[in-house]
Amino acid sequence: MTHASLDRLAIARAAYDAVPLYDPKRAPIDLDLTDNTNLWGLPPTAERTMREIAVSAVTRYPTLYAAELKAELAKYVGVTSDMIVTGCGSDDILDSAMRAFGEPGDMVAGPEPSFAMIPIFARMNALEYEGLTELPSHQPDIDALLATRAKVIYLCSPNNPTGAMMPRESLERVVNEATGVVFIDEAYAEFAGESAADLAFKSDRVLVIRTMSKAFGLAGLRVGYAIGHPKLVMEVEKSRGPYKLNSMAEQMALAALRHDRGWVDEHVALAVQLRERLADALRAMGLAPMPSSANFLCVPVANCVAVGQALRARGVAVRPFPALPYVGDALRISVGPWPLMQRVLDALAPSIAEVNG
Ligand code: PMP
Repeated sequence: MTHASLDRLAIARAAYDAVPLYDPKRAPIDLDLTDNTNLWGLPPTAERTMREIAVSAVTRYPTLYAAELKAELAKYVGVTSDMIVTGCGSDDILDSAMRAFGEPGDMVAGPEPSFAMIPIFARMNALEYEGLTELPSHQPDIDALLATRAKVIYLCSPNNPTGAMMPRESLERVVNEATGVVFIDEAYAEFAGESAADLAFKSDRVLVIRTMSKAFGLAGLRVGYAIGHPKLVMEVEKSRGPYKLNSMAEQMALAALRHDRGWVDEHVALAVQLRERLADALRAMGLAPMPSSANFLCVPVANCVAVGQALRARGVAVRPFPALPYVGDALRISVGPWPLMQRVLDALAPSIAEVNG
């Protein structure tokens, strides 16, 4: 019996009627380009640390709030340690922060399209979610977002799935005018080469959310963090609770931050270069990839779900996004080493021809 066919348990919270299990349809496949992780693998010192880790990292509890990692992340982003909170992936930060600031029934407002987990985290915390269609420029409709007077405004820059970066003036305007807390999700900041983390010095109501899942190649470890005013991050930390970051994750993340920055920078630069090479190759096929500041490309392709299935039959998975506003159907393709990109290019033309004729 699948979960979808189960009736709601009478004892469950009513708000959970609207909470689906997350299903990005990631069945095992030869070449998986669906999740925008680092396709070059694991940074070398993090890998060595993994092999040499002490047994006590598993037999004993981890540290309460990952103080050592907070200090190293603070150096990485140029703030003080008391402005950092860590979590079990940035998912955990988004979830905990909504719980920290939203009373049941409060509103979370965000642009559409954006990170698919946001409405789910809102409902998991008994909050209302309002998605506001982005503008034809692929920028969030800031007037509409501000007009909601939502307790939480979510912004994502570069945005997933479009790859669009929000201009600094727009971010500043939301931070200055919002009545609630502003989340700025910067999961892909390293690829954009710029960050709004300094806005945390200008307002005690802005939380900039980052992750080690993408540029740092540590998605399986689940290491996320956020930057904010010390009082703001303390509330998130309370909501998150102790022992959330396991010891292995903390030690490998520390090793990567201390010794693998060169590796990360090199592969970020490569991802950016190959993203543009992939965009050129897609244009040569007659497609029109959207401008991207992240490590993925959003490519309008009619009947994207069927094309995605045709690609899957050829051993390649990409993420279809049907009916995006002002775009229509699109495929999101993670960027990685060129031989992998060549494989998706080789599989794409026959898949599109098969579906769209
Ligand atoms: N924010 C955005 C925009 C993302 O794309 C993702 C991952 N897909 C996340 C947050 C969550 O990442 P993680 O929990 O691995 O840090």
